[in-house]
Amino acid sequence: MSQTFYRDTWAEVDLNAVSHNVSSISQLYREKNVHVMAVVKGNGYGHGAVEVAKTALGSGAKYLAVALLDEAIQLREANITAPILVLGRIRPEDVAIAVQWDVMITVFQVGWLQEAKDYLSEGQSVQIHVKFDTGMGRVGLRSKEEAALLFQFVIEHKSFNLHGIYTHFATADEPDVSFVNEQHERFLSMLEWLKGWGIKAPLIHSGNSAAAMRFPDKMFNVFRLGISMYGLTPSPAITKELPVTLKPAFSLKSRLVQVKELPLGESISYGATYRTKESEWIGTIPIGYADGWLRYHSTSGGEVLINGDRASFVGRICMDQCMVRLSKPVETGTIVTLIGEDGRDKITMDEVAARLGTINYEIPCVIGQRVPRIYVRK
Ligand SMILES: *Cc1c(COP(=O)(O)O)cnc(C)c1O
Repeated sequence: MSQTFYRDTWAEVDLNAVSHNVSSISQLYREKNVHVMAVVKGNGYGHGAVEVAKTALGSGAKYLAVALLDEAIQLREANITAPILVLGRIRPEDVAIAVQWDVMITVFQVGWLQEAKDYLSEGQSVQIHVKFDTGMGRVGLRSKEEAALLFQFVIEHKSFNLHGIYTHFATADEPDVSFVNEQHERFLSMLEWLKGWGIKAPLIHSGNSAAAMRFPDKMFNVFRLGISMYGLTPSPAITKELPVTLKPAFSLKSRLVQVKELPLGESISYGATYRTKESEWIGTIPIGYADGWLRYHSTSGGEVLINGDRASFVGRICMDQCMVRLSKPVETGTIVTLIGEDGRDKITMDEVAARLGTINYEIPCVIGQRVPRIYVRK
């Protein structure tokens, strides 16, 4: 269900790679009753939430997770019926919307429950996952005192249906596992304490991609699979120890719109910051910072692939276009690979992330809506 578009820049998303990643990671749990919750927040990490969700479900994922209620509704509107969990805090006044769309929500404040209760009508109930903050410091219950108040309220009010209990690791992708162990222990002690109260939830989950691949013994009955479903390693530091071969799903492509030979000393782009050092072939690519292709790609020595050869950005990246220096003349219309494979070479998401001093997660997320996503099965 690729959209119609009239430009020569696109992101190619290989849904077979997504399938491969979901099934290979699931294989690690084939003898256990542990299920995949496919995380498709942020428009499926920029890959396209609906297509990735459908593919993941078709490859064995049982649940979906998103950050926002709006994202959950987008999936429902695309006729996706699998259980969906919203990981972020929704507004108490929107609780009936979650019920209406059959979406599970995350809660961690008794005050939230008190407020939300008044927005639910008689007999209406919402499925909740209670979140514990065991060391991420972001959202979640921090103490038994807070938890006692919240669970007491849940027990007393039928409008809240406990479906899950979870936490989130802060360092699951780091070589040093001591803090993961600490968070795991804290979570176990909370679960044990809740059991003492007779509180149990059908779903218990803690792991993200890194934890699911590295600590199978620490997983409960669900894990939340994000980045590695898209074929990316949670962190370069743990790539070597991963038990599965991941296939990246996202490539970014364009086509040269002009190729020209410039004599020595000619300037390129705003500010005329680049001047040809000899007679040079310059190619123009129709992508720029309005597509999320930020100016820093050129100042940090970024490259693209053209016919399998590397070409460096020269001059500043503009809003809609940018220029590269070619080692030899090529035809206008030649494909440019900004991220992905081209012949014998490839530019990985990790290479691009390193160029910008960031993590691979960020790169596909910031490639804008203006860049159409084309779905392929390789
Ligand atoms: C985004 C997110 C995930 C997925 O993490 P990955 O590292 O991408 O696998 C899991 N859990 C929560 C709470 C998240 O916000």
